[in-house]
Amino acid sequence: MNLYNIKHPEEQVNFAQAVRQGLGKDQGLFFPQIIPQLSNIDELLALPLVERSQQILTALIGEELEQSKLNQLVKNAFTFPAPIVKVEDNIYALELFHGPTLAFKDFGGRFMAQTLAAVRDNNKITILTATSGDTGAAVAHAFYGLENINVVILYPKGKISPLQEKLFCTLGCNIRTVAINADFDACQSLVKKAFDDAELRQTIGLNSANSINISRLLAQVCYYFEAIAQLLVEKRREVVVSVPSGNFGNLTAGLIAKSLGLPIKRFIASTNSNDTVPRYLATGNWLPNATVSTLSNAMDVSRPNNWPRVEELFKRNGWPLSDLHSSAVSDAQTELTLNEMNTKGYLCEPHGAIAYRTLTQDLQLGETGIFLCTAHPAKFKESVERILNIELALPTALDKHNRLPLLSDEMDNDFTKLREYLMNK
Ligand SMILES: *Cc1c(COP(=O)(O)O)cnc(C)c1O
Repeated sequence: MNLYNIKHPEEQVNFAQAVRQGLGKDQGLFFPQIIPQLSNIDELLALPLVERSQQILTALIGEELEQSKLNQLVKNAFTFPAPIVKVEDNIYALELFHGPTLAFKDFGGRFMAQTLAAVRDNNKITILTATSGDTGAAVAHAFYGLENINVVILYPKGKISPLQEKLFCTLGCNIRTVAINADFDACQSLVKKAFDDAELRQTIGLNSANSINISRLLAQVCYYFEAIAQLLVEKRREVVVSVPSGNFGNLTAGLIAKSLGLPIKRFIASTNSNDTVPRYLATGNWLPNATVSTLSNAMDVSRPNNWPRVEELFKRNGWPLSDLHSSAVSDAQTELTLNEMNTKGYLCEPHGAIAYRTLTQDLQLGETGIFLCTAHPAKFKESVERILNIELALPTALDKHNRLPLLSDEMDNDFTKLREYLMNK
């Protein structure tokens, strides 16, 4: 698989380099030169998840990874199901939260960790990533205990749920977590500064594991196939998929699946009040506001870093950007929606509820809708219990971590301090 830097197309790398490097020159994103058109979609859809995913990833990655090795990686990474659940006529939830950290980021995180361990050279590796909640947990758990790979995770202090924090800040071993006294965008920009620092990058073998790493996106392509595979054949023709979006990696993966030939009619990019994209699609003006905190905090992003890949996919496929529907859902609407869904017998959490809301507003007669449920309701226990006036039991994975002490360090939004911290670890 060959990839180019979207900002500097002359910079070209193979898959292993892209995985190791994360980002290209000037923080440019890597993008595959060729996305093949698969001619055997129906055959693929008939296969079980792991086998099908091995074939899809082979088609994308090519011969760079030995077949048996790739098969093993996929098997190690995809150890949990992604079921669709009928919520009402023609509307299904795709539940992506059955992995070890109860969020969809387990798919990408685990595949990336496996891939990186497979393509690494003998140099030191430090994974540095910023999280608005779930990436941190997925990355920490995916890399936990892997030899000679250090992980440092930055997150906005006080802006993620206490349970989310417990899930990834209690591990220790090769996992270090830092609470930054600022918002998520500031954490993200600290990470970018670190990657711009050639000496630092070299010395500690910096690698990013957030949604900009191409391996994560490729893994996520696979669950879009899994969703369609579970629909009755007659429902597969007019499928609309609503994606709750923050950094837009999830949507990018869906668009890659469509490029491969998966029958998806259109996507809806659903956001919370951090609505840079819906406003951009409506007006043509890219005008990020300051990030605001919402109930769906994993989507509190006003400068989504995968957006250039989304535009690249539309451009390369000759799809008009107007095919991408997009709208924002306020916290008040999210609360109403969660109650409405609960009445219909489906217990959801704020991110999934946003995707459901925009889907019900957008879906036309004769279409089948799928909305992505990116986290288990118990990951947002406080909000869900308050909004629905219920009590939620903690799944065992969360409960175990909830009783351990936090091991995070604390830091101001100051790159000099972060640099020193990284150099000395
Ligand atoms: C990360 C995350 C999102 C946003 O996904 P992107 O790929 O960044 O758009 C949505 N929901 C949850 C629960 C998440 O953790």
